[in-house]
Amino acid sequence: MPTIAPDSSLVSRFIASPNFDAREGSPVDVVVLHYTGMPEEGAALARLCDPEAKVSSHYVVRESGEIVQLVAEEQRAWHAGVSSWQGQGDINSRSVGIEIANRGHDHGYPDFPDIQVDAVIALACDICARNGIRPERILAHSDIAPDRKRDPGEKFPWARLAAAGVGHFVEPEPIRGGRFFSVGESGAPIEALQAMLALYGYPLQITGVYDTATEQVVTAFQRHFRPSRVDGIADSSTIATLHRLARGLTKPGADAATAGSD
Ligand SMILES: [Zn+2]
Repeated sequence: MPTIAPDSSLVSRFIASPNFDAREGSPVDVVVLHYTGMPEEGAALARLCDPEAKVSSHYVVRESGEIVQLVAEEQRAWHAGVSSWQGQGDINSRSVGIEIANRGHDHGYPDFPDIQVDAVIALACDICARNGIRPERILAHSDIAPDRKRDPGEKFPWARLAAAGVGHFVEPEPIRGGRFFSVGESGAPIEALQAMLALYGYPLQITGVYDTATEQVVTAFQRHFRPSRVDGIADSSTIATLHRLARGLTKPGADAATAGSD
Protein backbone atom coordinates (compact mmCIF):
# COMPACT_ATOMS: atom_id res chain seq x y z
CA MET A 1 0.00 0.00 0.00
CA PRO A 2 1.47 3.36 -0.95
CA THR A 3 2.31 5.80 1.81
CA ILE A 4 -0.21 8.66 1.86
CA ALA A 5 1.26 12.10 2.35
CA PRO A 6 -0.47 14.09 5.12
CA ASP A 7 -2.05 17.39 4.09
CA SER A 8 -0.56 19.18 7.09
CA SER A 9 2.98 19.25 8.40
CA LEU A 10 1.46 19.04 11.91
CA VAL A 11 0.39 15.44 11.33
CA SER A 12 2.57 12.84 12.99
CA ARG A 13 0.91 9.75 11.49
CA PHE A 14 -1.44 8.89 8.63
CA ILE A 15 -3.65 5.92 9.50
CA ALA A 16 -5.77 5.41 6.39
CA SER A 17 -9.49 4.96 6.99
CA PRO A 18 -11.53 3.33 4.21
CA ASN A 19 -14.57 5.40 5.20
CA PHE A 20 -14.75 8.18 2.62
CA ASP A 21 -15.96 8.96 -0.87
CA ALA A 22 -15.52 11.73 -3.44
CA ARG A 23 -16.44 15.37 -2.76
CA GLU A 24 -17.54 15.79 -6.38
CA GLY A 25 -16.62 19.39 -6.78
CA SER A 26 -18.02 21.03 -3.65
CA PRO A 27 -15.82 23.82 -2.27
CA VAL A 28 -14.18 23.09 1.08
CA ASP A 29 -15.39 26.00 3.18
CA VAL A 30 -16.30 24.57 6.62
CA VAL A 31 -14.33 23.00 9.48
CA VAL A 32 -16.39 20.85 11.87
CA LEU A 33 -15.12 20.10 15.36
CA HIS A 34 -16.26 16.96 17.17
CA TYR A 35 -15.43 14.94 20.22
CA THR A 36 -15.01 11.19 19.93
CA GLY A 37 -17.41 10.50 22.83
CA MET A 38 -15.84 7.15 23.72
CA PRO A 39 -14.08 6.08 26.95
CA GLU A 40 -11.00 4.77 25.14
CA GLU A 41 -9.05 6.85 22.64
CA GLY A 42 -7.69 3.75 20.89
CA ALA A 43 -11.17 2.32 20.44
CA ALA A 44 -12.34 5.61 18.98
CA LEU A 45 -9.50 5.59 16.45
CA ALA A 46 -10.25 1.99 15.56
CA ARG A 47 -13.94 2.76 15.01
CA LEU A 48 -13.12 5.66 12.68
CA CYS A 49 -11.15 3.18 10.54
CA ASP A 50 -13.64 0.28 10.76
CA PRO A 51 -15.39 -0.29 7.42
CA GLU A 52 -18.44 -1.64 9.30
CA ALA A 53 -18.85 1.59 11.29
CA LYS A 54 -19.00 3.77 8.15
CA VAL A 55 -17.73 6.82 10.05
CA SER A 56 -14.48 8.74 9.80
CA SER A 57 -12.95 12.18 10.03
CA HIS A 58 -10.01 13.80 8.33
CA TYR A 59 -8.12 14.25 11.59
CA VAL A 60 -8.04 13.02 15.17
CA VAL A 61 -6.39 15.14 17.85
CA ARG A 62 -5.39 12.89 20.72
CA GLU A 63 -5.36 13.95 24.38
CA SER A 64 -1.56 14.13 24.14
CA GLY A 65 -1.88 16.68 21.33
CA GLU A 66 -0.71 14.19 18.71
CA ILE A 67 -2.45 14.77 15.37
CA VAL A 68 -3.37 11.72 13.29
CA GLN A 69 -4.78 12.01 9.78
CA LEU A 70 -7.25 9.38 8.57
CA VAL A 71 -8.65 10.76 5.30
CA ALA A 72 -7.07 13.09 2.73
CA GLU A 73 -8.67 16.55 2.72
CA GLU A 74 -9.56 16.22 -0.96
CA GLN A 75 -11.85 13.31 -0.06
CA ARG A 76 -15.26 13.43 1.62
CA ALA A 77 -14.93 11.95 5.13
CA TRP A 78 -18.05 10.73 6.93
CA HIS A 79 -18.22 12.75 10.14
CA ALA A 80 -21.17 15.15 10.00
CA GLY A 81 -24.14 12.97 9.02
CA VAL A 82 -27.45 14.73 8.39
CA SER A 83 -26.48 18.35 8.84
CA SER A 84 -27.08 21.85 7.54
CA TRP A 85 -25.63 25.36 7.81
CA GLN A 86 -26.75 28.57 6.09
CA GLY A 87 -29.25 26.55 4.10
CA GLN A 88 -26.67 24.13 2.74
CA GLY A 89 -27.06 20.45 3.54
CA ASP A 90 -24.52 17.63 3.16
CA ILE A 91 -21.83 19.36 5.18
CA ASN A 92 -19.56 16.32 4.68
CA SER A 93 -19.15 17.34 1.04
CA ARG A 94 -17.80 20.78 1.91
CA SER A 95 -16.00 20.36 5.23
CA VAL A 96 -12.89 19.13 6.95
CA GLY A 97 -13.74 17.12 10.08
CA ILE A 98 -11.62 17.08 13.23
CA GLU A 99 -12.37 14.54 15.96
CA ILE A 100 -11.02 15.61 19.34
CA ALA A 101 -10.43 12.71 21.72
CA ASN A 102 -12.71 13.26 24.72
CA ARG A 103 -14.99 10.82 26.49
CA GLY A 104 -17.94 13.16 26.09
CA HIS A 105 -21.12 13.88 28.04
CA ASP A 106 -22.04 10.20 28.43
CA HIS A 107 -18.72 9.26 30.04
CA GLY A 108 -17.88 12.02 32.51
CA TYR A 109 -16.96 14.76 30.00
CA PRO A 110 -13.48 15.74 31.23
CA ASP A 111 -11.87 19.09 30.44
CA PHE A 112 -9.87 19.31 27.23
CA PRO A 113 -6.15 19.36 28.16
CA ASP A 114 -4.27 22.54 27.17
CA ILE A 115 -1.83 20.61 25.02
CA GLN A 116 -4.73 19.12 23.07
CA VAL A 117 -6.44 22.51 22.61
CA ASP A 118 -3.13 23.98 21.39
CA ALA A 119 -2.93 21.22 18.79
CA VAL A 120 -6.53 21.85 17.64
CA ILE A 121 -5.75 25.57 17.29
CA ALA A 122 -2.63 24.92 15.24
CA LEU A 123 -4.40 22.39 13.02
CA ALA A 124 -7.48 24.55 12.45
CA CYS A 125 -5.22 27.54 11.59
CA ASP A 126 -3.35 25.41 9.10
CA ILE A 127 -6.52 24.00 7.47
CA CYS A 128 -8.16 27.43 7.20
CA ALA A 129 -5.05 29.05 5.75
CA ARG A 130 -4.57 26.36 3.11
CA ASN A 131 -8.27 26.25 2.12
CA GLY A 132 -9.21 29.92 2.59
CA ILE A 133 -11.93 29.10 5.15
CA ARG A 134 -13.57 32.05 6.90
CA PRO A 135 -13.54 32.22 10.73
CA GLU A 136 -17.35 31.98 11.06
CA ARG A 137 -17.26 28.68 9.17
CA ILE A 138 -15.42 26.85 11.99
CA LEU A 139 -18.36 25.08 13.60
CA ALA A 140 -19.32 22.58 16.25
CA HIS A 141 -21.04 19.38 15.20
CA SER A 142 -23.88 20.57 17.46
CA ASP A 143 -24.19 23.77 15.38
CA ILE A 144 -24.92 21.90 12.15
CA ALA A 145 -27.00 19.07 13.72
CA PRO A 146 -28.59 20.67 16.81
CA ASP A 147 -31.39 18.09 16.97
CA ARG A 148 -28.95 15.18 17.35
CA LYS A 149 -25.55 16.31 18.57
CA ARG A 150 -23.87 17.90 21.61
CA ASP A 151 -20.22 17.74 20.57
CA PRO A 152 -17.65 19.08 21.20
CA GLY A 153 -19.79 20.66 23.93
CA GLU A 154 -19.74 23.58 26.32
CA LYS A 155 -16.36 22.68 27.83
CA PHE A 156 -14.63 23.18 24.52
CA PRO A 157 -12.77 26.51 24.86
CA TRP A 158 -13.94 28.47 21.81
CA ALA A 159 -12.78 31.67 23.52
CA ARG A 160 -9.21 30.35 23.60
CA LEU A 161 -9.42 29.50 19.91
CA ALA A 162 -10.69 32.98 19.16
CA ALA A 163 -7.88 34.56 21.19
CA ALA A 164 -5.51 32.65 18.91
CA GLY A 165 -7.32 33.92 15.81
CA VAL A 166 -9.36 30.77 15.13
CA GLY A 167 -13.13 30.91 14.67
CA HIS A 168 -15.76 33.58 15.18
CA PHE A 169 -16.55 34.48 18.77
CA VAL A 170 -17.53 37.47 20.85
CA GLU A 171 -17.31 37.88 24.60
CA PRO A 172 -20.70 36.61 25.87
CA GLU A 173 -22.98 39.16 27.53
CA PRO A 174 -23.11 38.61 31.31
CA ILE A 175 -26.12 36.69 32.61
CA ARG A 176 -28.58 39.05 34.28
CA GLY A 177 -32.31 39.15 34.82
CA GLY A 178 -34.81 40.51 32.36
CA ARG A 179 -37.16 39.15 29.75
CA PHE A 180 -36.55 35.64 28.51
CA PHE A 181 -38.27 33.22 26.14
CA SER A 182 -38.75 29.49 26.36
CA VAL A 183 -40.73 26.58 24.95
CA GLY A 184 -44.43 27.25 24.37
CA GLU A 185 -44.22 31.00 23.77
CA SER A 186 -45.05 32.56 20.44
CA GLY A 187 -45.18 35.90 18.70
CA ALA A 188 -43.04 38.50 17.01
CA PRO A 189 -40.07 38.30 19.44
CA ILE A 190 -39.82 34.53 18.84
CA GLU A 191 -39.97 35.09 15.11
CA ALA A 192 -37.18 37.67 15.38
CA LEU A 193 -35.06 35.30 17.46
CA GLN A 194 -35.55 32.47 14.98
CA ALA A 195 -34.73 34.76 12.06
CA MET A 196 -31.51 35.90 13.71
CA LEU A 197 -30.42 32.31 14.47
CA ALA A 198 -31.24 31.20 10.93
CA LEU A 199 -29.45 34.21 9.45
CA TYR A 200 -26.33 33.31 11.42
CA GLY A 201 -26.55 29.81 9.92
CA TYR A 202 -28.50 27.50 12.20
CA PRO A 203 -30.94 25.08 10.59
CA LEU A 204 -34.25 26.44 11.92
CA GLN A 205 -37.69 27.17 10.49
CA ILE A 206 -39.09 30.63 11.26
CA THR A 207 -42.48 29.75 12.70
CA GLY A 208 -42.98 32.33 15.45
CA VAL A 209 -43.42 29.46 17.92
CA TYR A 210 -40.75 28.55 20.48
CA ASP A 211 -40.88 24.83 19.71
CA THR A 212 -38.54 21.95 20.49
CA ALA A 213 -36.44 22.69 17.40
CA THR A 214 -35.96 26.28 18.61
CA GLU A 215 -34.96 25.05 22.06
CA GLN A 216 -32.42 22.69 20.50
CA VAL A 217 -30.90 25.46 18.39
CA VAL A 218 -30.74 27.86 21.35
CA THR A 219 -29.03 25.08 23.33
CA ALA A 220 -26.50 24.54 20.53
CA PHE A 221 -25.89 28.29 20.35
CA GLN A 222 -25.24 28.41 24.10
CA ARG A 223 -22.81 25.47 24.00
CA HIS A 224 -20.72 27.38 21.47
CA PHE A 225 -21.19 31.03 22.34
CA ARG A 226 -22.56 31.38 25.91
CA PRO A 227 -21.29 28.22 27.60
CA SER A 228 -21.70 29.32 31.24
CA ARG A 229 -25.37 28.32 31.14
CA VAL A 230 -26.74 25.80 28.64
CA ASP A 231 -30.49 25.51 29.20
CA GLY A 232 -32.24 26.23 25.89
CA ILE A 233 -33.88 29.35 27.33
CA ALA A 234 -33.36 32.51 25.30
CA ASP A 235 -32.48 34.91 28.12
CA SER A 236 -31.29 38.46 27.55
CA SER A 237 -27.64 37.38 27.71
CA THR A 238 -28.19 34.77 24.99
CA ILE A 239 -30.04 37.20 22.73
CA ALA A 240 -27.55 40.02 23.25
CA THR A 241 -24.65 37.66 22.53
CA LEU A 242 -26.37 36.55 19.32
CA HIS A 243 -26.84 40.17 18.24
CA ARG A 244 -23.20 41.02 18.90
CA LEU A 245 -22.10 37.97 16.97
CA ALA A 246 -24.30 38.80 13.98
CA ARG A 247 -23.12 42.42 14.00
CA GLY A 248 -19.54 41.20 13.87
CA LEU A 249 -20.27 39.48 10.57
CA THR A 250 -21.44 42.58 8.77
CA LYS A 251 -18.44 44.76 9.54
CA PRO A 252 -16.12 45.24 6.59
CA GLY A 253 -12.98 43.20 7.18
CA ALA A 254 -14.56 41.55 10.19
CA ASP A 255 -13.22 38.11 9.34
CA ALA A 256 -9.60 38.65 10.23
CA ALA A 257 -9.46 41.73 12.40
CA THR A 258 -12.21 40.96 14.88
CA ALA A 259 -12.10 37.20 15.15
CA GLY A 260 -11.31 37.42 18.83
CA SER A 261 -13.37 40.41 19.85
CA ASP A 262 -16.57 42.23 19.08
ZN1 LIG B 1 -19.58 14.74 16.11
